[in-house]
Amino acid sequence: MSTDFDAIVVGAGPAGSCAAIVLARAGKRVALIERGPFAGSKNMYGGVVYPRILDELIPNWWEEAPIQRWVTRRSTMLLTDTQALTIDFRSQNWGAPPYNGATAYRPDFDAWLADHAVAAGAVLVTSTTVTGLIRHTNGAVTGVHTDRPDGDLTAPIVIACDGVNSFLAKEAGLYPDVDADNYTLGVKETISLPKETIDERFAVTDREGVDIEILGGTNGVNGGGFVYTQLDTVAVGVVLKLSKLAAQKTRPEQILAKLKAHPAIAPLIKGGEIKEYSAHVIPEAGYEMMPKLTADGLMVAGDAAAMCLAAGIWLEGVNFAMASGMYAGEAAVEAIESGNCNASGLAGYRKRLENTFVLQDHKKLRHAPHLVLSDRVQHLYPQMVANLVERMFTVDNPKPKPGIRRILKQERKRAGVKLSDLARDGWTGFRSFG
Ligand SMILES: Cc1cc2nc3c(=O)[nH]c(=O)nc-3n(C[C@H](O)[C@H](O)[C@H](O)COP(=O)(O)OP(=O)(O)OC[C@H]3O[C@@H](n4cnc5c(N)ncnc54)[C@H](O)[C@@H]3O)c2cc1C
Repeated sequence: MSTDFDAIVVGAGPAGSCAAIVLARAGKRVALIERGPFAGSKNMYGGVVYPRILDELIPNWWEEAPIQRWVTRRSTMLLTDTQALTIDFRSQNWGAPPYNGATAYRPDFDAWLADHAVAAGAVLVTSTTVTGLIRHTNGAVTGVHTDRPDGDLTAPIVIACDGVNSFLAKEAGLYPDVDADNYTLGVKETISLPKETIDERFAVTDREGVDIEILGGTNGVNGGGFVYTQLDTVAVGVVLKLSKLAAQKTRPEQILAKLKAHPAIAPLIKGGEIKEYSAHVIPEAGYEMMPKLTADGLMVAGDAAAMCLAAGIWLEGVNFAMASGMYAGEAAVEAIESGNCNASGLAGYRKRLENTFVLQDHKKLRHAPHLVLSDRVQHLYPQMVANLVERMFTVDNPKPKPGIRRILKQERKRAGVKLSDLARDGWTGFRSFG
């Protein structure tokens, strides 16, 4: 049967563009369909890309990628209403090729990746929304309906890279049910400041940048926060567990305003002008919420397959999306060439994910999102640790210095933390992060 394309990729985010690059470079006819007017126009995130996986796809990507700053400082901050405890790491090694993390604006970064797909021969169709799947009478996916007149397109393989709410994966029955507890809402402000001011306040120079991940500071709603530097803007955001946010009945922008007013954050953004406010849902539960990844004629990659890794000290989605898109592209090429585009012919996709960081990290960290968002880690431990440190460094002469063991015991009791819970959470944390 003749088809319009060999493969149709839905969504020109990082997952979709990487899938399209691989297919087009293998000489396959591939359509990359994006609902926005250009790739990246609809997309937002915190701000840091970890592009190591691009070494395979675009060698020396750093010479051409639209990067704002190279992350050379990475801090983890623990906030209570009146305290801040920061572990701050800096490495000059990260400020030189092949680099580690980089800040970038999504409209720039996604458009750049999609340009690579087009340069390789993919047909990028923008301002076009895929509205459903076309199926053979035997159930196999054979194309997509779009919102264009006469807009049906056919192909033996469709790769759904349509992001966190993936209507295609749901339509195909790959998600058994959707549980709001598996999702968080991320809201972010992009605040403009002169480059020199950012350099001075964040203690960086030239193209060096900073990534601050925050535990606490979310007004009692389970979640976290972040601060990232671009060249002349600072991104400040919070990530909030949907069910807790709904229960508290506080607006996300009020929570963000409170974080921005915290004494540890306010001086960093003082005098800045808000350029943009954006919000997006995150598939937070990782491995525990992943759908089935293939069906006959269909693969799901990136956020559409819940591949964002949100594990407290790590919030990485773009690299997981790029890698899963790449591997879906490779599996599609294999299936097209073997003439078997059923789920059995697409098995190479899962195999590639299993053999690489994508599913290996997700499996290892499968309990981490739940642990990090638990009430104890969110509300009890930060206060206990901050109080412990405050007492350690409070000079209360003429009294002598208290022993750390004693204050730990006292603060644990004051915070209402049971030893058994502490041991259990410590063990889960050790198994996940150790
Ligand atoms: C607040 C927040 C902060 C984050 N911070 C970071 C971070 O700092 N670093 C990091 O690595 N990750 C971060 N993430 C996660 C990251 O943004 C995602 O994991 C990543 O964007 C997933 O890429 P994707 O290609 O799978 O999906 P997306 O980037 O969501 O792309 C999906 C694409 O599909 C298109 N689309 C959707 N439906 C259709 C349709 N029916 N028809 C046609 N096109 C369609 C969309 O317009 C979009 O272009 C953050 C996320 C949020 C919300």
